[in-house]
Amino acid sequence: MGGGGDGGWWWTGDDGSLKMEVAKVSMLNDLNTFSNNYSIRVKIVSISKKMMNNNKNEIYRLDMIFMDEMGTMIQASCLHKMLGKFKEFLHLDECLLITKPSLATNKSSAKYTKRNDKISLYFYTIVEKCFDWSGPKYRFNFVNLKDVVKNKFEVNIVIDWINYVDVCFNLEDTSKKDGSKGKRLNLRLEDIEGQKCPVTLWDGFAIDMFAYMNDKKREKYVVILCHFGMVNLYKGKRGVANGFELSRLFIDTDIEEISSFRKRYVEKISASSSSNDHVGSIVISSVQDEFLNNPDFMLIGFLGTISTTKKVLVVGTITAICTDKLWYYNSCNHCKSGVEERFVTKQNPDGSSDVYHEKSWVCTNDKCEGVDIYSIPRFKIPIRVQDSSGTVSLTLFDFEAYKILQKTAKELVSIQDQVVNSGEIPNPYPEIFDTLIGKRYAFIISVKDYNIEHQVENYGISMATNDDEILSALCAKFNLNQHEQSESLDVPDSCSLSTPVDLMKDEMSYCGDNVTHASQALVGTENPSSDETKRNIREVLDVDDALGCSPTKRRISDELYQDEDAGVSTLLIPKIEK
Ligand SMILES: [Zn+2]
Repeated sequence: MGGGGDGGWWWTGDDGSLKMEVAKVSMLNDLNTFSNNYSIRVKIVSISKKMMNNNKNEIYRLDMIFMDEMGTMIQASCLHKMLGKFKEFLHLDECLLITKPSLATNKSSAKYTKRNDKISLYFYTIVEKCFDWSGPKYRFNFVNLKDVVKNKFEVNIVIDWINYVDVCFNLEDTSKKDGSKGKRLNLRLEDIEGQKCPVTLWDGFAIDMFAYMNDKKREKYVVILCHFGMVNLYKGKRGVANGFELSRLFIDTDIEEISSFRKRYVEKISASSSSNDHVGSIVISSVQDEFLNNPDFMLIGFLGTISTTKKVLVVGTITAICTDKLWYYNSCNHCKSGVEERFVTKQNPDGSSDVYHEKSWVCTNDKCEGVDIYSIPRFKIPIRVQDSSGTVSLTLFDFEAYKILQKTAKELVSIQDQVVNSGEIPNPYPEIFDTLIGKRYAFIISVKDYNIEHQVENYGISMATNDDEILSALCAKFNLNQHEQSESLDVPDSCSLSTPVDLMKDEMSYCGDNVTHASQALVGTENPSSDETKRNIREVLDVDDALGCSPTKRRISDELYQDEDAGVSTLLIPKIEK
């Protein structure tokens, strides 16, 4: 005798026991709680052990993610009491035919699938190996880095990501809430479009990745793929991470997705003009490495001969702070571009048809998507730097300036404001800048398109150091002292900048309310067109953005800016009468 229903049928066998044969394999999308009497054909695409709280050597539960042949996924688990029966089958990437599983409530905080339930392997479940898997090997749902960076995803949402590893930073120790120690690794990813994004890897993932990056036999262009990764908020910035036990990291693994990504990336690199300089994925573990491994040392006098955009190393003494340019700019709290205060037409809040005009900060970057923009002063200190071959104008940006001065631009602007409020004429720049003069520094500077095209001899500083060890190592490496000695007679006089200072003082006069905003003052003093100012500031930002790359730097700079209040500081700057 037999019976039907439940998608299968059962009968009493010769030995008297109840037999069941399942007629059809259900797809995960069709599962419901009406019955347990069905089969599924699945692949284990992720697996993780949860250990007993009181015995870290004993498994409490196996958590898994199953995928069916249509690529649909569901979470699954097997409790320790059932492990004896199933554990021989439960391995990563194994394909299984599972009969009579049960659906259980999914209580895990991370949702890997859209479902609120999960498959549970229980007493009546039967698991067999499946030898005729016809589904995909993996099913990824990659996100766009741009969408991550632009906050289009919620933090902690489960995502897949694949990208080129631009920079790998140092492996760091962390302490967890439960007092245990862990590891953290920060990297910077880049996609085909050139969008960069920070990534954080934790513990085992961090250790594996760091070991791979330091392996001399690794790929030049490292590509990593994270299955079941997450959107991460780290020190105030959106990025991606592995985040959960069920995350899976593929580092240059031989799978189609990685090899085709690398192929496309390398094609893009080879098509670009600066391909010769492209060294592939790099490991930056310290400031020292960044300086000592920098490929191109240049004497200042030869900077003008550079014909491709690149970063170069110069070593020289700071001889002056220029006073013909402002030492800071008002930056957008969202994108760091310059902001301008403009009158904006607004609707009257009382609902009447009246409109009114209100001053508000407007970002000069057309692509900025910030809302409620406010202004944060950031450094752009114009300095003159001299070596045995000449003197050049460099710009010291926010983070490097902070590192040296240990003061934020905001602090120094408010000191300047106080001077102005007390009715005195402030110095053209904060006194503390004078401590820079006469000091010898190594700089990594960016030679940009506009330097080359317009023969502008004013370069942005990416990194600065006057660390004795680094300087002497650089001197030894590039034979610098020999240059200095043999050419010391030709060193030009460094006081050429006193003239603009005097001119400024003579021409300075105060207008009625004494208030001019930085961006206007920039135009007033620097005298380029407004567009040019914007462009220069944009260039400034490119350089400065590149600074946010090392974990140490990112940490400090984020602390600096995370706590900025929304108050707009009004700057008092002497206006130049024309
Ligand atoms: Zn902006």
